[in-house]
Amino acid sequence: MSAPASTQASTLAGDPPAFAFIGGRLWLDFINTDDARLGTRTDTIASFERFVAWLAEARILDAERAAALQRRAVEQPSGAAAALVEARRVRAALRSLAERGRTDQGERAREAALVEINRVLGRSVGTRRVEALPDGGYARSFVPVGDVFGGLVIPVVESAVDSLVHGELLRIHKCADRRCPRHFYDVSRSRTRRWCDMATCGNRAKAARHRRRVGRRR
Ligand SMILES: [Zn+2]
Repeated sequence: MSAPASTQASTLAGDPPAFAFIGGRLWLDFINTDDARLGTRTDTIASFERFVAWLAEARILDAERAAALQRRAVEQPSGAAAALVEARRVRAALRSLAERGRTDQGERAREAALVEINRVLGRSVGTRRVEALPDGGYARSFVPVGDVFGGLVIPVVESAVDSLVHGELLRIHKCADRRCPRHFYDVSRSRTRRWCDMATCGNRAKAARHRRRVGRRR
């Protein structure tokens, strides 16, 4: 029996796009939520709910806090909406920093990112913590005091601060696929990483090279 039309429609629309954690730095994973699918720009944090889901998947929030935030968002939709606007604003500034921060012409992007970072840090009231994770790793977290929607992007912003302090901008690259907006921190010893992900862009490039070779042989 075929599925009812409504189910088919929702399947066609698809599940929300998956998050990509390929940036090598938390703030780069965050700017990569402004992603592209099949050449179309796609915001993978299109709602507050998705933003919280990203924070949980990035392990900035544990499941309990994430669930509490989702409940509060239902009670206070305007607060949740404002937090999402705030997150996107920070994301735009950090994206310019990743795109242009390392160039000589990047001074304005660097200045704008500093203003944005200091604005977020200056407004945060809460407790910074480091949490031990079940897999043996560690993650920064931030528990705000008062405003439950405040400070959600603090660990993201602090990750950008770490990159600035440690002079990492020079090793941040955009994926070599022109249609792909993702950025990553190149930790390869040879500093030759070209693709955001071998499973997607890297593979596509490999297949295209193969097609060109086969085409030449014919
Ligand atoms: Zn890519």
